[in-house]
Amino acid sequence: MTDHDVPLDFGDPADLDMLRRELRAWLTEHPLPRRRNGEPMAEFLHRWHRQLHSGGWVGLDVPERYGGRGLTALHQVAVSDELGACRAPGVPRIGYLAHALLEFCSEDQRARLLPRMLSGDDVWCQGFSEPGAGSDLAGMSTYARRSPDGGHYLINGQKLWTSYAQYSDYCLLLARTDRAAPAHSSITAFALPLNRAGVTVRPLRAANGDDEFCELFLDDVRVAVDERIGAEGDGWPLAMTTVNYERNALDTGHLSKYGLLLERLRRQLREHPDALPDGLVSAVGRCVVDYQVLVAHTRRRTAERLAGRPAGPESSVDKLLMTRAEQRLYETALAVLPEELHRDGGAVYGEYLYSRAASVYGGTSQIQRNIIAKRLLHLPSAS
Ligand SMILES: Cc1cc2nc3c(=O)[nH]c(=O)nc-3n(C[C@H](O)[C@H](O)[C@H](O)COP(=O)(O)OP(=O)(O)OC[C@H]3O[C@@H](n4cnc5c(N)ncnc54)[C@H](O)[C@@H]3O)c2cc1C
Repeated sequence: MTDHDVPLDFGDPADLDMLRRELRAWLTEHPLPRRRNGEPMAEFLHRWHRQLHSGGWVGLDVPERYGGRGLTALHQVAVSDELGACRAPGVPRIGYLAHALLEFCSEDQRARLLPRMLSGDDVWCQGFSEPGAGSDLAGMSTYARRSPDGGHYLINGQKLWTSYAQYSDYCLLLARTDRAAPAHSSITAFALPLNRAGVTVRPLRAANGDDEFCELFLDDVRVAVDERIGAEGDGWPLAMTTVNYERNALDTGHLSKYGLLLERLRRQLREHPDALPDGLVSAVGRCVVDYQVLVAHTRRRTAERLAGRPAGPESSVDKLLMTRAEQRLYETALAVLPEELHRDGGAVYGEYLYSRAASVYGGTSQIQRNIIAKRLLHLPSAS
């Protein structure tokens, strides 16, 4: 089988249809929560996460022994899609961290960490980027020094842009454990409890008024050897697994959310065919094309995941497609439906603002193009 002939066979549709109906029925009894006045976004999303988990709607494709439902990636995709279609306030963004833990943790760590991550009893954040290491993640300088008796590590350094660290219990932290070895084999991952002595979390206010980002200062933070995830030097492959899962549209519910907004734009065109200048009409057309391409790619990735293929560098293509589709869609919506975007407390306008970040988080668009050039097209490198 070549890279291109994974069958688009999604198993038994009746089973999926039943799951979607079960979710819709559950949602009528457990209505979507509303964000309370002044409630921080992270607390609102956490409330929603707990509510979803209580109904069994988190971790569909995680084995039951780790707190999931032991179903397939397709079930997870169907649930995310259905939630997006119901305008749910986002799917808990833990799937990519859960994949990394599933792949790299010991059996004991999986059993201890995953059920609490899925239930929301423990909230996790991702401590990868540093002031001098974002795109060049391998250039990180946070250092974990092993004690002479080998029993623990002392970690020193700083992380930056750590989303919602101030609301988190654990950080999936990367640190260098060998300063002499090449960067890609000297990075190690840790499950760091954020209440540990020596950890300081300082929130940063973003332009949209949210306090999503944090700086994380690590000052002689002591972590036990059994808080290390994987072996020393496994941090780089773990980081790549994490970002490869983070860079696709499968588990986010974004597709159906984009579909709903696109439908509003098309309705506007149908009902007021002469009201828009030609430029905006063709912009809506480009949004339709972007959306259809993204849907086709997402189906393909789903088929690959069902066939047991782990997420790899192809996810950089997905990330670029998702970024383009999202940014163009919200930009066009802002021009076509300016008043609508400000309805309901401006939720969609907030999504427009956040769409600008899509070309940065999870690795910038330039970096995705570098990955595609090197790892997928095998183009020669200048250096
Ligand atoms: C909303 C959001 C949430 C985030 N959450 C987290 C989080 O939870 N945890 C975490 O660890 N990080 C997080 N980040 C950080 C994110 O991963 C980094 O911002 C990103 O990797 C870019 O790194 P940087 O900001 O240091 O930019 P830099 O690496 O300094 O890049 C600056 C510019 O130079 C370009 N550039 C750099 N190197 C190259 C190159 N080799 N070729 C071409 N162009 C290049 C970049 O594309 C960019 O335009 C988040 C970012 C955002 C926007």
